Amino acid sequence: MAPPKKLVCDRCGLELTNKDDIELALEGAEAWQAAVWARGDEPRGLFPCENYKSCGGEMKPFRGKGIFRRGGNTN
Ligand SMILES: [Zn+2]
Repeated sequence: MAPPKKLVCDRCGLELTNKDDIELALEGAEAWQAAVWARGDEPRGLFPCENYKSCGGEMKPFRGKGIFRRGGNTN
């Protein structure tokens, strides 16, 4: 499975487009998601946003239009 070309914060819209940054995020994603589950939450994305403290957002893979819409599944 090819890594996504871009990760986007679902709250503040921060974009991660640097290949190395994305790889680092993907490497840490499993551990981070496990930590979220452990505190009783459900991870929405792969990794916390760089501004997580202020925006509380999570980085989601961006693969094109229409996959991740604001607010989740509304169709
Ligand atoms: Zn954010």
